[in-house]
Amino acid sequence: MSSEVGIFGGTFDPPHIGHLAAAQRCQQALGLERVLFVVANDPWQKSPNRQVSPASDRVAMVASLIEGAAGLEVCEREVERGGESYTIETVEALEKDEGVVDPWVIVGSDLALTLDSWERAGELRDRVRIAVMSRPGSPLSLPAGWRAVALISDDLDISSSQIRHRVATGQEIDEFVPLGVVHDITSRNLYA
Ligand code: ATP
Ligand code: MG
Repeated sequence: MSSEVGIFGGTFDPPHIGHLAAAQRCQQALGLERVLFVVANDPWQKSPNRQVSPASDRVAMVASLIEGAAGLEVCEREVERGGESYTIETVEALEKDEGVVDPWVIVGSDLALTLDSWERAGELRDRVRIAVMSRPGSPLSLPAGWRAVALISDDLDISSSQIRHRVATGQEIDEFVPLGVVHDITSRNLYA
């Protein structure tokens, strides 16, 4: 009846092959038919500290990242909703509009222990399962009280911050993002 869906939220500024590897690992390990890359509109835990690129640029880059990869989709719900982005609202909307039940929320190990601070965490805990992806620099641990699994990804030591820094300092980035994303960054004059 219902298909297995993964919700992979992020700022994706820019998206990189660490994100791609994590999504594909979840597809394969959890048998997900769809993984939605949910582009955050206003990443409230980040935006006071730095300038986030326009959502339209981040959506375009995610589309380039996942081009040709079966079962991966860009989700613009949070961008269209506007304002601050909360996963619980996306979960509710996906159930209402698309009949998505009991989805997997995919997070890197750096975020696994922050889940209790997410908006309406108690409701979220009841409605989703969590896939924690290993990520270099953060120990792989399961959030207590959540239905969660830990998955070993390719352990790519890559972050968007590092890519932004490389662009700003004139270094190559083609080992971290596909060519399409390199082109988006150049043509949109991002991070310069
Ligand atoms: P920034 O450096 O700006 O924080 P980021 O690389 O962490 O960027 P985000 O958009 O913040 O990217 O992350 C979105 C999601 O992807 C988060 O759940 C994060 O933990 C996960 N993630 C990011 N990079 C990796 C990676 N290399 N391996 C596994 N998961 C990752
Ligand atoms: Mg991050």
